[in-house]
Amino acid sequence: MVIVVIGAAGTGRHTQGYMLMRKWGLTHIALRDLIYAAVEEDSDLGREMAPDLERGAKIPDKLVFELLNRHLSKVNFDKGVVINGFPVTMSQLTALQSSLGNLGIKIDHAVLLEVPLDESIRRLSGRRNCPSCHVGYHTAYKPPSVDGYCDDCHKMLIQDEEDRPEIAQKRIEWFQETSAPVVESFEKSKILRRVNGALSVEAVFRTISEKTGIEKWFAANN
Ligand SMILES: [Zn+2]
Repeated sequence: MVIVVIGAAGTGRHTQGYMLMRKWGLTHIALRDLIYAAVEEDSDLGREMAPDLERGAKIPDKLVFELLNRHLSKVNFDKGVVINGFPVTMSQLTALQSSLGNLGIKIDHAVLLEVPLDESIRRLSGRRNCPSCHVGYHTAYKPPSVDGYCDDCHKMLIQDEEDRPEIAQKRIEWFQETSAPVVESFEKSKILRRVNGALSVEAVFRTISEKTGIEKWFAANN
């Protein structure tokens, strides 16, 4: 079972991807984690990617695809896999399909989390972080006990540049434009599962589980 979870910033795909891992024992694959791990391990690819990662520059597709390809070749697909936040572009989709194809594996379900633009912006623009201990807060959903200050170390909380409303909106629009052909391709292959991400975390998770049939699959494979 291979499930892909994609969605714009603020749709909760991070949370849902990790819930699929915890609840159903799926192996969780996120490119960002792979890149950080490669740099940490100081592998040959990690060394090539480190300068771009440090500068916050875009890491060349060629390196990222090679990293993903190597990682996938070591994954045990028998336990199921969730690929989180990838693919968004057509070249990413082609690279993923080719890597999986070489292993005789295909994507079973592509979950697209959909949240109205204003709600996504509300979610993103309420995020606050502690610059010292890196704990995350949210002005509406997870407020600190003293407004604007970290509960643990009492430092003043900051808002990431990318979570400012106007930048958040651009990120969401970028995702919608960029992913449109990928979503269309999933739709044609009849593996697209549209999920309303505006509901509660638990309701979204139930919908994903139902639409992918993961519960039955889990019972049959464990
Ligand atoms: Zn703190």
